[in-house]
Amino acid sequence: NILIEANNISKVYDPDILLKRGKNIYALNNINFELQKGDFISIMGPSGSGKSTLLNCLSTLDQPTSGHIQIFGKHLSKLHKNDLCEFRFQKLGFVFQNHNLIPYLSIFDNIAAPLILGHQQNQEIEKRIHELAKMLEIEKILDKFPHECSGGECQRTAIARALVNQPEILFCDEPTGNLDSKNSHKLMTFLSQLNQQETTIVLVTHDSMIASYGKTMMYLYDGGIKTVIHRNQASQKQF
Ligand code: ADP
Ligand code: ADP
Repeated sequence: NILIEANNISKVYDPDILLKRGKNIYALNNINFELQKGDFISIMGPSGSGKSTLLNCLSTLDQPTSGHIQIFGKHLSKLHKNDLCEFRFQKLGFVFQNHNLIPYLSIFDNIAAPLILGHQQNQEIEKRIHELAKMLEIEKILDKFPHECSGGECQRTAIARALVNQPEILFCDEPTGNLDSKNSHKLMTFLSQLNQQETTIVLVTHDSMIASYGKTMMYLYDGGIKTVIHRNQASQKQF
């Protein structure tokens, strides 16, 4: 059950860099990758190794310079712009290091924001948001505004917003980057539970403690996949 398939993808942001610096110009270099339903993959590696670029390419936010990506069986390069938007909206959820909440909307309205584009009834919206708020322990702050909430609360709100449309895949780029260790582990425990309930997760982190919540650890170096470790099967593949 393959959700995303990347074939030989490479990414070069700026070909002129080669002339300027004369060094490796590849943010990604010939990556082959498969995401299966139920996976929880942690992408690791030093700063500049290509983690965010890979996440952005896999999640349709960016395009590789060469190679092909199929997502839910569709060729990304062939999807029309409108279809792509709808597709992201229905099937994908995003969480970034900065929660990117809208400051003048309440926590409730921030979570509800993606639903405004859909066709749900108010009652359904309320029910879904209260369910999520309960799971993420933010029920008590639904009427507050982001500036009145802690970093952990804001980040959990961002996760609720990402999940409000029940995406099949959740993409997280350094979601714990601005959290203390207690809040980080709380968040990761939640993501693990979510994964057990069938949401597929792709996580970027430079923190090995955080990465270890994943089922698979993938290490990047200089834009290439260096090592893949499957936690439960204790198998390891060197590239
Ligand atoms: P990581 O997430 O592992 O820190 P990135 O994917 O952000 O790595 O970056 C990989 C490489 O691509 C780095 O050399 C970085 O400087 C470069 N890069 C990333 N984003 C851009 C961009 N928007 N424009 C030009 N170069 C970029
Ligand atoms: P990360 O936390 O993933 O390592 P970075 O600090 O590498 O992120 O990058 C932060 C932002 O800056 C990203 O949006 C990335 O696309 C952009 N960026 C990174 N490197 C470059 C670069 N060399 N030129 C332009 N933009 C870049």
